[in-house]
Amino acid sequence: MNIKDLLAQATELLDLTPDGWDRSIYFDISKLFEEGGEAAECVNKSRFTDEDLGEELADIMVVVAVIALKRGIDLDKAMVNKQVKRVRKLRKRFHGGE
Ligand SMILES: [Mg+2]
Repeated sequence: MNIKDLLAQATELLDLTPDGWDRSIYFDISKLFEEGGEAAECVNKSRFTDEDLGEELADIMVVVAVIALKRGIDLDKAMVNKQVKRVRKLRKRFHGGE
């Protein structure tokens, strides 16, 4: 599974959504937080398993992909660019910029 596959899953879900069900970005962002809450619940309550947590993480990822598709964001490029920034930040903070 890679980002291309993830985007294909998101596209499949969008294609299955009936006409007239197109939701706003605000709904999609709230859905992302809803899925985040479900992941938190899996961590906080003992009745949930790591398999349950994995499903919620998968939900989070597909909602992210849906948002990226609907906004025309190149998720591959965003992931690479952001990782460069994260690494630079941590190197500066913990390794003197090395
Ligand atoms: Mg869920």
